Amino acid sequence: MKTDYDVTVVGLGPAGTLTSLLLSDSSVNVIGIDKEKDIYNLPRAVTIDDEGLRILQRLNLEHIYLDNATTIEGAHFLDDKFNKLSGIDIPSGHLTSNGWVPTMMFHQPYTDSLLREELLKSTCSVKLETELVDLIPKGNHYIAKTQNLTNGVEKCFSTQYVVGADGASSKVRNIMKFDQEDLDYDKNWLVVDVKLNVENTLPRFAAQICDPKRICTYIPSHLPFRRWEFILLEGESKDDMLDKNKIQELISPWLKPEEYDIIRAAVYRFHSLMAKNFRKDNCFLIGDAAHQSPPFMGQGMMSGYRDALNLSWKLISVIKDSFPLTVLGSFEEERKPHSRFVVDGSAAIGKLMTAYADAVERNQSSDVPQELIDRGYGSFTLPPLKNGILYKGKSDRASMAGSIFPQPLRMEGMECSERLDALLGKGFCIVSKKEVDLKTEQKDFYQKIRSKFVVLEEGILNNSPSVKEVMKKNDVYILRPDRHIFGSTSDKITFDDLTEDLKQRLNF
Ligand SMILES: Cc1cc2nc3c(=O)[nH]c(=O)nc-3n(C[C@H](O)[C@H](O)[C@H](O)COP(=O)(O)OP(=O)(O)OC[C@H]3O[C@@H](n4cnc5c(N)ncnc54)[C@H](O)[C@@H]3O)c2cc1C
Repeated sequence: MKTDYDVTVVGLGPAGTLTSLLLSDSSVNVIGIDKEKDIYNLPRAVTIDDEGLRILQRLNLEHIYLDNATTIEGAHFLDDKFNKLSGIDIPSGHLTSNGWVPTMMFHQPYTDSLLREELLKSTCSVKLETELVDLIPKGNHYIAKTQNLTNGVEKCFSTQYVVGADGASSKVRNIMKFDQEDLDYDKNWLVVDVKLNVENTLPRFAAQICDPKRICTYIPSHLPFRRWEFILLEGESKDDMLDKNKIQELISPWLKPEEYDIIRAAVYRFHSLMAKNFRKDNCFLIGDAAHQSPPFMGQGMMSGYRDALNLSWKLISVIKDSFPLTVLGSFEEERKPHSRFVVDGSAAIGKLMTAYADAVERNQSSDVPQELIDRGYGSFTLPPLKNGILYKGKSDRASMAGSIFPQPLRMEGMECSERLDALLGKGFCIVSKKEVDLKTEQKDFYQKIRSKFVVLEEGILNNSPSVKEVMKKNDVYILRPDRHIFGSTSDKITFDDLTEDLKQRLNF
């Protein structure tokens, strides 16, 4: 049956908006609905990483963050006297293999409103002040029941797929009865954002202050903004913490009251929660609807962006390029363990702060278990995908299956003059040092899955250290549309092996 829409995205926060933009960029018939008229006008997420910028670059929208963000100098754990306990420094100008700086601090109301403008210009049908009230499964599609919140009028439409991007208290999750699991971090924190009235003299590194009297976080947000987060102590109520005098007292080690205006103060429950499943039939959960973590790792929104890209390329492949439906099963298989790493890692940073504070109180700051320190900044790297559409279904160090292929760059001296992801295209891509000989049936298969073949010239290899390094290891790489490596050739793995396995994984 032909439905009114191919995909309905419920919730147009950052995760839903990116999904809608990626789908409409590939001419998918998509509708995005949000119960609010405008974007949420207060900052929540403040950090975007190199992978996020690379995802936005795909839509030529990285400028939205670059124009409204500032780099930082590092992230440290400090004691009560602000002495460094551990952490990382980020050298100025450092580019990762994704071709961007490791992390930037942005102001979410600015970036969300620019993303909304882009969405309104796109082919996505956008319905604001429209709440999802029910979802009725009908065979292999859904009837979505919505209510216009300005006039109360209810409407129904049919849709093949539903993406629940409707945040922490997701209606889609509730209607479709997705269970959640609690992952053992659940504490109340006061979050305060201020606008500086004076020139900034505060540090340009993020700090987790492990003060036994009260642990807190300092974030060098995009200027002129700054953020602090303070844990609530036993017996303290929300009202106690939201009192202006209390907030001024808490911020007094850094600023005098006349030096700033409070733009937002709220008590949040920082918790670690995950949906037990990210997919039921043709309904998917992404972003905060699927997983919520304390903000210590600064990866909450990024996890939502990874969901958006992972799910979009699979929906596009099924809807536009007639890939078998089984491809969609890999969304949960790939994204659940990865987002769990972020949720667990964020909670571990919270636990490390408490452990440092206890040790500081005992004057034994070197007395913190190494396994906890190993979960702090500087020690973790985001893992590759573990299982899914990967050679033999698994990540593998030697073939780099599951890792992200570096972005080719053009460098002028130490400066990057051009980022060359566009060379790789937006679909499957076979990257090699010399032309790959294809058999006739391989040609047909690669045409069917709309692959691009790219021979990397010497000039690009020499200019692009990360790509050169990777191409030294293996000769031919098969990249998925999200630039994750499916697999690569080696002494033991031929291009024919890779191709046969890819056919199996995609069910062709
Ligand atoms: C204090 C704090 C600090 C944070 N710091 C960071 C950080 O430093 N870095 C980071 O990456 N992340 C951070 N996060 C997390 C980040 O803000 C979220 O991960 C991100 O905003 C979630 O995006 P989302 O699109 O999934 O959901 P949301 O932004 O919550 O959007 C959900 C949308 O769904 C709409 N909606 C809800 N129900 C319905 C319905 N029934 N019908 C229609 N529409 C509906 C809502 O109106 C909303 O627009 C922080 C969060 C908090 C609270």
